[in-house]
Amino acid sequence: MSFSTLGLSEPILKAVADLAYTEPTAIQKQAIPVVLSGKDLIAGAQTGTGKTASFVLPLLEQLHTKKVNTDRKLRGKRIRALILVPTRELAVQVESSISSYSKYLTLSSMAMYGGVDAEPHKQRLIWGVDIIVATPGRLLDMAHQRALHFDELEMLVLDEADRMLDMGFIDDINKIIERLPTQRQNLLFSATISDDVRALAKRTINRPVEISLAQNNASKPKIEQWLVTTDKGNKSALLSHLIKDLQWQQALIFIETKHGAAKLVSQLEKRDIKAEAIHSGRTQAVREQVWNDFKSGKIQYLVATGIAARGLDIGALERVVNYDLPDNVDDYIHRIGRTGRAGASGEAVSFVSKDNFRNLCAIESRLGHVINRKEFEGFDVKKVVPVSILNYIPKSKRS
Ligand code: AMP
Repeated sequence: MSFSTLGLSEPILKAVADLAYTEPTAIQKQAIPVVLSGKDLIAGAQTGTGKTASFVLPLLEQLHTKKVNTDRKLRGKRIRALILVPTRELAVQVESSISSYSKYLTLSSMAMYGGVDAEPHKQRLIWGVDIIVATPGRLLDMAHQRALHFDELEMLVLDEADRMLDMGFIDDINKIIERLPTQRQNLLFSATISDDVRALAKRTINRPVEISLAQNNASKPKIEQWLVTTDKGNKSALLSHLIKDLQWQQALIFIETKHGAAKLVSQLEKRDIKAEAIHSGRTQAVREQVWNDFKSGKIQYLVATGIAARGLDIGALERVVNYDLPDNVDDYIHRIGRTGRAGASGEAVSFVSKDNFRNLCAIESRLGHVINRKEFEGFDVKKVVPVSILNYIPKSKRS
């Protein structure tokens, strides 16, 4: 199946061809026709499946067609489509996808997020912007300041809805939705469709078509997962050993805290490994620079806290390392989704110490299998991590 059979028009197909996408991914095949038909949609799809294009391409098509047919000019401080995302990094990422997919169209777009001066955003809003990609807090701020009005809004997208709820954005999202015109098309994307996500969808969305890629995902990336058990104090030595011994060229290394990130960078440096860190303690400008350097290969090893790295897209990332195993199973799934994207193969390596045992059980129970364990000479563990109980249910979820 090619993109040309999906109902997208020439300028969009040309932009897609420029990116050398030959075939739509599974989510794109399913979602694009639904969005083009004007229906509401709920889609269960993770990062790495091509989900961004699955809503951006038909959204552009809808806005472009109406613009050409009605020749209506956008009024000042008005927007036609709103994409809500959990983090500023994802806002930047999605907006940059919009820019490349719309390069042969005359639609305007802007990313809007907190933590930076709001004045440039306000200035750009004065003439109206077709598509805004925003984090909920900053968007609401702008609405309160009357820098932006929603009366011409046609489409709403909630991207990574589960993550937005995890991050406590529910009140902001509800307040935003209250301000929107009732006649609009709604799209909701979420890695997991939890009860909370369903409740949000129920309030927001009209009789949606539901698509889930959880099973039978043809474009599922090939990710080799393995773990190495380790004593807590031995992790940085182990990481240095793996980088050198296995000749890793690239790794995105997830760590729990910003202090831990800075410490690990200096520990690696002592072993002649040059790494950088992104976390909430660094400015947005520095984070963007470091991320771009990592993408271009200038930086080979990047240590990141989970939130800082969320949503950042890098095409085909070779490897992620869970230096600290995440507490939350969804985080594990999201993190490994950073690698092996859109068909490329990748590797997800986790360091597991005895106090991670419960988390490991929860993760392996979700996966439905134990993760392959590897051992390395000179790194014997004192506190052995037992083999998981695969039907493990966390205490908080037991009835
Ligand atoms: P996403 O799941 O939206 O984060 O996309 C993951 C990656 O897949 C991005 O780098 C996209 O540029 C890429 N991608 C999206 N659609 C396709 C496609 N049809 N063929 C090849 N790569 C794609």
